[in-house]
Amino acid sequence: MTVREVCEVLERLAPPSLAYSWDRAGLAIGEPSQEVKGVLAALSVTRETFAAAKRAKANQIVSHHPLIWEPMRALRTDDPHTALCLELAHAGVSCYSAHTNLDVVPGGVNAVLAERLGLTALKSLLDVPHAMQVKLVTFVPESHLPAVRDAVCDAGAGIIGDYTHCTFSAAGTGTFLPGEKASPFSGKKHQVNEEPERRFEVLVPSGRLSDALRALLQAHPYEEPAYDVVPLQGVDPAVSLGLRGELPKPITLGAFAAQVRMNLDVSHVRVVGDLKHKVRHVAVLGGAGGSEAAHIPGGVDVLVTGDVDYHDALAAQERGLAIVDAGHVGTEKWIVPALVRRLRGVFPKLRMVSHTERDPFRIVVK
Ligand SMILES: [Zn+2]
Repeated sequence: MTVREVCEVLERLAPPSLAYSWDRAGLAIGEPSQEVKGVLAALSVTRETFAAAKRAKANQIVSHHPLIWEPMRALRTDDPHTALCLELAHAGVSCYSAHTNLDVVPGGVNAVLAERLGLTALKSLLDVPHAMQVKLVTFVPESHLPAVRDAVCDAGAGIIGDYTHCTFSAAGTGTFLPGEKASPFSGKKHQVNEEPERRFEVLVPSGRLSDALRALLQAHPYEEPAYDVVPLQGVDPAVSLGLRGELPKPITLGAFAAQVRMNLDVSHVRVVGDLKHKVRHVAVLGGAGGSEAAHIPGGVDVLVTGDVDYHDALAAQERGLAIVDAGHVGTEKWIVPALVRRLRGVFPKLRMVSHTERDPFRIVVK
């Protein structure tokens, strides 16, 4: 398979249109048509990651954090970052990242984190303003309705909460007059034909629209299928920055913090709040979520995130929101094996390894 095909699998999980406008997710280095011999999944692309890719004979790195963030003004080998980019390019190692788009999707960074912490009754935490939905409407002969419905739904349309294949159809009559060069599915040329049809409609996340349209055009029997794409107000409720969920029963903040430390396999956590207070309603926001503490809705007892600074901590304390800071790596590293599992499900024969990153922070207590 090619670099493009590997990227496409990841884009089905995390559509690029769901990345924030300031993000730099996507293919940073590489030739889309290049053959992939092996994939290494990692949180960040560092010199250590590159060495691990070479050892694993992987010529594609799939990371959560984008390799190239700031615009480059020169490609000099005496700058450590541009030197790394040049070496990756020389070695023919492509680098693809799914970043904020992977943070917000079902099955993404926060879903994996919530699962790791054993949270149940998961709900969205913060709306993603650019996660829009559209309504796709088409008109299809009854005989082909199931095929069109299944194709469009398999492409990611028709999901409402825990339900898939949510569609609606109603009977009606379509008309058409085929021209000289037309080759109609039914009816006669040079006359107005009437055809019993179903009006079929379905919700589509805007990031899945091109896949859904491709599926519709493939499954639809007409030479020129008619369809409407109707923009909708309101954001896609399935897309969320962070998640909120519940613990099986209330426990003290101290006990919860110890549980987080163990479940996330980190050396320590930092805690804001009274360790004796009971917590049950938990929000998770993997990575740098400290600055979002001020936006966490009421009803959440404790936020699990990383990169909490002094002012974030003070602001949370004032609002009565507890925080467990398990570090950037501690809260995000769990997505790496999840990406490998996803790719392995599609390309079972592809060599694939997940690289465990060392946290750059060391704790010295005496
Ligand atoms: Zn991150």
